[in-house]
Amino acid sequence: MPNAKTPDRLAGYEHRYRELAEQLATIGLIHSGSVTRRYTHCANPGCKCHADPPQPHGPYDQWTAKINGKTVTRRLSPAEAELYNEWIANDRQLRRIIKQMRQIAAKAAALKLKHLADQ
Ligand SMILES: [Zn+2]
Repeated sequence: MPNAKTPDRLAGYEHRYRELAEQLATIGLIHSGSVTRRYTHCANPGCKCHADPPQPHGPYDQWTAKINGKTVTRRLSPAEAELYNEWIANDRQLRRIIKQMRQIAAKAAALKLKHLADQ
């Protein structure tokens, strides 16, 4: 009777699935894109950023995202960068959890469909 354990396995998947859904409920604000730290060179040839060795301007934190196929960038203050980093980390966490939920749901669905076919 290979299907004797099906309800147990299904209960296990459903339990794990519920746990992940609970984690989703606690996630803070999310935001797209990424934050990168940049150093720049200005147009003034006498500036220290063109000296030998060069001392570039910065660091500046910059937010970058693709919106409707276009790359959008925005320079961030340190306080803004801190918020963006938190929101973007939340977004990554959200996607990690959803990916796990999809994997578990696929296993549970396959199990349910097989169970249905065996009846
Ligand atoms: Zn410069």
